[in-house]
Amino acid sequence: MISSRVALLSSSSTLKITALTKKLKKEGKDVVNFAAGEPDFDTPAFIKEKAKLAIDQGSTKYTPSAGTNELREAICRKLKEENNILCEASGIIVTSGAKYAIFAAMITFLNKGDEVLIPSPFWVSYPEMAKLCGAKIKIIKTKAKDGFKLNADLLSRAISKKTKLLILNYPSNPTGATYSEEELKAIYNAVKDKNIVVLSDEIYEILTYDGAKHISFASIGDAHKFTVTINGFSKSFSMTGWRLGYLETAPNFIEAISKVIDHTTSCASSVSQAAGLAAIEDKKWPQTMRAEFEARRNMLFNGLSRLKKIKPFKPSGTFYMFCDIKKSGLSSVDFSSNLLDKHLVSTIPADSFGAEGFIRLSFATSAQDIEKGIKRIEDFTRGL
Ligand code: PMP
Ligand code: GLU
Repeated sequence: MISSRVALLSSSSTLKITALTKKLKKEGKDVVNFAAGEPDFDTPAFIKEKAKLAIDQGSTKYTPSAGTNELREAICRKLKEENNILCEASGIIVTSGAKYAIFAAMITFLNKGDEVLIPSPFWVSYPEMAKLCGAKIKIIKTKAKDGFKLNADLLSRAISKKTKLLILNYPSNPTGATYSEEELKAIYNAVKDKNIVVLSDEIYEILTYDGAKHISFASIGDAHKFTVTINGFSKSFSMTGWRLGYLETAPNFIEAISKVIDHTTSCASSVSQAAGLAAIEDKKWPQTMRAEFEARRNMLFNGLSRLKKIKPFKPSGTFYMFCDIKKSGLSSVDFSSNLLDKHLVSTIPADSFGAEGFIRLSFATSAQDIEKGIKRIEDFTRGL
């Protein structure tokens, strides 16, 4: 009964392990949660208050399918001022989470057999979404010695006549790598004039460290013409459960993507959109969270660097730390599941990110738990 497209899908390792971790915690188990793909901060009170007010004032009906005009205008101001993207409010679509913005864009551009270039390690959902669209996946393997970054050489070798879409994601989930303006310019030069759409997922833009500045791909040269920028509120404002994201692209693509929204979700939640409007005007709160994550990153990195059988890579962004566990002699899945079963530390095995021999740790957890987790990993790896 199941369609061949869906039969091909794998389930999401990130969502599965995150749910299992939450369940174990609820049962009273003292699990250290290094699996979380969401900030551990509560959504700020000023955002919640705005949502309550919106409900009381009757913002409880369908909005225009691309989002309320107020929110699209506010997003447009943000993208112009902070991301240097020459956008118009009419080039923005608000979606039910950034995840849906990615899917709506993919289904709009991809025909059966079109090639999608995905640099690995990659976030679990990109290949699965491409499969749902009937596209062909071409993985571009990046190297640890290059900081897990795509470069013009790798890209040029991967591009073929069938290439329709390139996925960029930086700061990267799962490696935390981010790109300088020069590196992005090199990628731009390799894709421009090739009739390729670039889907630039910048949802972790706020979380960069050591003074790294986030540059949007759409701000380079004339990249705006062929780029769909993805962003949202989940990571910047700790609003994962509100399901609020957006995409921005050239106005000539918007009508087509809008039709997909019209016939699938109608619009993002009206209450979440009102909350998002309050959030986007605030520049301070995300920076406070960012500073806290930078301190935790340093703590986790210093703690893991002392250990023999695990090699952490220091991320320049996100709240993820990618670790090489090949010296343990275990597969990613065995390492993660033994660590959880025997020492109550949850992590994500990176085979689902296209990187066997690695695991992903999230430092979206308290400093106290980070310390506890490092000790437990030390005990676990010592026993191997
Ligand atoms: N892109 C990346 C790289 C992510 O890690 C996530 C995590 N959820 C998303 C997009 C989607 O975010 P959301 O749907 O919660 O806005
Ligand atoms: N993106 C987060 C993660 O990678 C949340 C879960 C998901 O949507 O995949 O863990």
